[in-house]
Amino acid sequence: MFCSCCGNTIDENQSFCSRCGASFGKGPVQSQLIGFSPRINDAAFTAYKKKSRSWSFIFSFILAVIAIVAFPIYGNATGEIDWPFSLYYGLGIGGMFIIIAILQTIKRGVDKTWDGVVADKYTYISYERNRNGYRIPHTVYVLKVKKDTGGSKKHKWRDSPGLYDYYNIGDRVRHHKGFYYYEKYDKSQDTQIMCAACMAFIDIGEETCTKCKCPLLK
Ligand SMILES: [Zn+2]
Ligand SMILES: [Zn+2]
Repeated sequence: MFCSCCGNTIDENQSFCSRCGASFGKGPVQSQLIGFSPRINDAAFTAYKKKSRSWSFIFSFILAVIAIVAFPIYGNATGEIDWPFSLYYGLGIGGMFIIIAILQTIKRGVDKTWDGVVADKYTYISYERNRNGYRIPHTVYVLKVKKDTGGSKKHKWRDSPGLYDYYNIGDRVRHHKGFYYYEKYDKSQDTQIMCAACMAFIDIGEETCTKCKCPLLK
């Protein structure tokens, strides 16, 4: 069997394309709370990805310009960095912002869709010294997802639970190419659903995200 979107070869028992992320076959198009949603193929997601990519470039470009301008001004005002070295520092830091944006885009491009299961979740307290030397406790939330194809992903949030509370151990999940989000196979126990694109929590009764207008994966 071949993917209808990109032509990639797919196993008969696979319900998604690991290369382009398209899902097909099983499951009706109308919303359902059990099963992976075929709505990830919606053009709204492609548009959203494109827009967020442009924004990340615009944002890093602005940061780069600020760095290139600010270093010489700072150097001149304080006398700590001489011209033209202050400009070189600015160009170096500014260039780094651009390189980070390029690397992020490449990383998203080579990302693949995969299925897995929430293998473990736990919290622990980590003590870190603050500026005054006091040991301050921080709660760290850890979520471990095991891939069906082997290997696992560990996610950590510090001080705020992030997506920790949304998932339970044993949940079947799907990672969608290019998104920092796991779709739950079974959403029937949930009152809220997370938007795959902007990651806002939306009432499970909605069909599209009230924040970014992308379809909700159900
Ligand atoms: Zn494909
Ligand atoms: Zn959204």
